Amino acid sequence: MTPTTKIEFSERALKILKQEVEAIAAFHKRVRPQASSAAGALAAACALLNQRGRYCSVTAEHFDRLDFEGIQIIDALDEHLTKAIRALLKAFIEEHRRTPELKALRFLAEKLVVQLQELPPYPVAYMVLGSLHAALKAFQKLIDDGTSFDIEAIEHAFAHFLLGVVDKYVQTRERPGERHHSDIYREYVVVRRLKCGCGEEKYDVTMQALCHGAKGEPFDRLDLQCKACGARRSVTFDLPFFKDLEKM
Ligand SMILES: [Zn+2]
Repeated sequence: MTPTTKIEFSERALKILKQEVEAIAAFHKRVRPQASSAAGALAAACALLNQRGRYCSVTAEHFDRLDFEGIQIIDALDEHLTKAIRALLKAFIEEHRRTPELKALRFLAEKLVVQLQELPPYPVAYMVLGSLHAALKAFQKLIDDGTSFDIEAIEHAFAHFLLGVVDKYVQTRERPGERHHSDIYREYVVVRRLKCGCGEEKYDVTMQALCHGAKGEPFDRLDLQCKACGARRSVTFDLPFFKDLEKM
């Protein structure tokens, strides 16, 4: 096997990551007080979600959206954003322990679930953000069309519904073992989005190997070949949670 060097983030990528992680945290801190009511929590979650537009354009100024580094930056920021949205909704729900009206919850589940794409067992954060976006849009339409529920009751139920969507994701990123499997799953989702120089997004994974870096840290190497032009390249992924497996 040819020796492998881990692909590290460039200085520019690290700078964008640091700056945007801080921007998400600062924005989260600013909107957090709004989450004292269901309507406020939903508005704050929506405003947080809209932060994605900013970091996507900042990243796109320097990196191709479909190249390796650009995808990695956005995935990392998406994870931060999803966790911030979860923290916001959770804070609201823990503060307002009142159980939502079951009828309202059931009504929402019935009306909204059909409009959301089913997420894979280990979703990548952008998929979860996509679901949140679709749910918020569908909820707004339900409200505009008018329901028989009290607005406060339905908003409260919807905050629970949204927390359910993000919670499922965050758990796969926090539970030992699962977070490692979700890292592996994401590798393939990155490859699926990666664009070859010939203009196609059609890479085959020809080999996957577990490697070790200079300090013994494990990482994955994927060898890829473009189905359209045959060009080959390799990409590497950190495996920060590989150690979970040894403990199981
Ligand atoms: Zn190609």
